[in-house]
Amino acid sequence: MIYAANLKCNHTKKSYADYAKKLSNGLSQNSNSVIVFPPFTALSEDKFNFTQGAQNFYPAQNGSYTGEIGSQMLEEFEITTVMIGHSERRALGEDEPFLKAKFDYAVSKGWDIIYCIGEDDITHMNGSTKEFLSDQLANIDLNYENLVIAYEPIWAIGTGNSAKVEFITEILDFISSKCSAPLLYGGSVNITNIDEIKAIKSCDGVLVGTASWDADKFLEIIKKG
Ligand code: PEP
Repeated sequence: MIYAANLKCNHTKKSYADYAKKLSNGLSQNSNSVIVFPPFTALSEDKFNFTQGAQNFYPAQNGSYTGEIGSQMLEEFEITTVMIGHSERRALGEDEPFLKAKFDYAVSKGWDIIYCIGEDDITHMNGSTKEFLSDQLANIDLNYENLVIAYEPIWAIGTGNSAKVEFITEILDFISSKCSAPLLYGGSVNITNIDEIKAIKSCDGVLVGTASWDADKFLEIIKKG
């Protein structure tokens, strides 16, 4: 199981230092299957028993891209795992051509990619989730060897209400019919629903937002695994 923590725009440098120490100490050994995406300002050069990833990056080494972070800056922190396509970045204007440019750049670097897809509530309600996800997946090379796909229905993110197990199963089975990349589910995963989500056959892990922001809570979720 992969356990990924999306800290989003939470944690200062200091609070993340405490978080990372607690999480790392709570993991018995170096665990490649635990990935934490802190805010850029909190990234640490210390070594931990988990992998640090980047929530975002600009598809260039460096240059005149005001406010952006290029690969040169990520390399300083030995970051080789990136998240692309999160719905909160799509909502800020990252469209399919830009996501493709990010994806292709990450591939050129050989980075591990967690590529997020997911539909909004209107698409969900009108029953066109699979068509919508197919379009999102058509944007990337599904055969890329270091690809992980995170299915995150937007209507379940940050609501405290995860999608139902039957629905997650149907969608992950659908995605796995298209590729062999490991699949994560994200959307209000927490200590009360981790067991049933983990038990889904085609689920290889979880991407956790809110319930990962406290190291103890995230550890509890991991330990249940
Ligand atoms: C997310 O935003 O990636 C996420 C899964 O958030 P939450 O767990 O809070 O729904």
